[in-house]
Amino acid sequence: MTDATDRTQASVDPSHALETALGSTISTLADLDSVRRKRLPQIPGKYRSLYLRAWGGKSRKVAMRAFCLECTGYNAAEVRRCTDGACPLYPYREDRP
Ligand code: SF4
Repeated sequence: MTDATDRTQASVDPSHALETALGSTISTLADLDSVRRKRLPQIPGKYRSLYLRAWGGKSRKVAMRAFCLECTGYNAAEVRRCTDGACPLYPYREDRP
């Protein structure tokens, strides 16, 4: 009975929870930065600034543009011609045919 009480108290200890959450967040941000640093050189130069803006997280439109470019192998003409109505992003594209 005491063990169960101790476990319950440990699981709701706010300082422990905050420490765990911060550690997890810091680790995740570091991982994210590392992944993006590795990824950037694989993106064609003319689209890197678009990706940087997408990663900034302020525009869904920019993120969708980057995703569509990636989907088509960075071929902007193919993005404009995309008719894949089954793609979850398709209804949100402003330039869809
Ligand atoms: S809308 Fe078309 S180009 Fe964009 S991700 Fe979907 S299939 Fe690819």
